[in-house]
Amino acid sequence: MTLARAARDARGLFAATAGGEPEGVWSAPGRVNLIGEHTDYNDGFVLPFAIDRRTYAAATRSGQRRIRVASTLEAETVEVRIDELDLVFPDRREAVPEWARYPLGVAWALLADRDGDLPPGVDLAIASDVPVGAGLSSSAAIECAVAAALDDLWELGLDRVALARSGRLAENEAVGAPTGIMDQVAAMLGRTDAAVFLDCRSLDAEVVDLGFRDEGLEVLVIDTEVSHAHATGGYRERRTACEHGAAIMGVTALRDLAMDDLPRAAALLDDVTFRRVRHVVTENRRVLDTVETLRSHGPGAIGDLLLASHASMRDDFEISIPELDNAVEIAVAAGAIGARMTGGGFGGAAIALVPHELTERVTDAVTDAFAASGFSAPRCFTVVPSDGARRDR
Ligand code: ADP
Ligand code: MG
Repeated sequence: MTLARAARDARGLFAATAGGEPEGVWSAPGRVNLIGEHTDYNDGFVLPFAIDRRTYAAATRSGQRRIRVASTLEAETVEVRIDELDLVFPDRREAVPEWARYPLGVAWALLADRDGDLPPGVDLAIASDVPVGAGLSSSAAIECAVAAALDDLWELGLDRVALARSGRLAENEAVGAPTGIMDQVAAMLGRTDAAVFLDCRSLDAEVVDLGFRDEGLEVLVIDTEVSHAHATGGYRERRTACEHGAAIMGVTALRDLAMDDLPRAAALLDDVTFRRVRHVVTENRRVLDTVETLRSHGPGAIGDLLLASHASMRDDFEISIPELDNAVEIAVAAGAIGARMTGGGFGGAAIALVPHELTERVTDAVTDAFAASGFSAPRCFTVVPSDGARRDR
């Protein structure tokens, strides 16, 4: 098997920092969310897929009782003694540089509830071709690559959802970022030409065939490279509005409301809260409909659901920006089957489902339209639904 460039980079870094050949190389992908936005923290449904960009961890057990990690993106190698992991995390995380909290936090999370003997030390070297901070979840990719490596090297025998949970625990507690578990589940469970249908309440996950390959479809990511200052504030505000709406409607989470409940919601809620609630209720419905449509009619039939999702985020949830609206509109006019903004909003990327032979035309049309509107040039690239975390050698 030929190794990807980033895998070779991880081995090279391993040789330079730990010396010699690693015992193995493990990897995990980034992800794109096909549909289901702001539904995760409402106990709802999401449909992400793992992509063909991966983070690799070359690793070996060492005789020393410490975890040591290096990354091609960072100059320094960081180490923590295994018996001191729970002194560092979560309260004294400042003791290690921020990037190292992701991999070392996973080691901490995997050992959090264990008693008995401590496992052997491990040396890790990380390299990746997932762009960092571009909304493709490089954070879940590094967490899941390390989780897969440590699970094997420490012979923990955990299942994939348990490994996803360790990644989330690391991100929430060791890094301190209050994110859901979608990214890690996609990175652990993804499969070639398939998406992961996740119930964020039960964590039941099901692999759903996409059929993009057979239909000659590609997913084009149109990254606006806009990052809005109020993304964090806006996110928090939307979460609060959803909790408020659920409380007034007398349910645990908006997941518990159906389309039939919307007239009652309209009567009880103020206009803004109602529209926030309507987005979540209809978006959950659209995820279910997308899964159903993929199974009954194939991917060529999901375009309208993607577009309806975008309209709902633009008009009801109000998290889109002119660049994203423009990208969606132009992509469809140039031949995309459907398109929507993806991710938390207030910037970031849109995705378009495009017949392979039209990808260049759609890319050019969006790029030209951005220039005509005075927006800065978008970064466009295709992603392919791919396998989740694995051992590469
Ligand atoms: P995203 O997940 O959208 O790419 P995040 O802010 O959630 O963005 O996570 C990015 C952070 O994860 C980086 O700033 C860095 O701290 C860490 N990280 C991700 N990939 C790597 C890597 N290959 N090497 C070192 N740190 C990484
Ligand atoms: Mg992230």
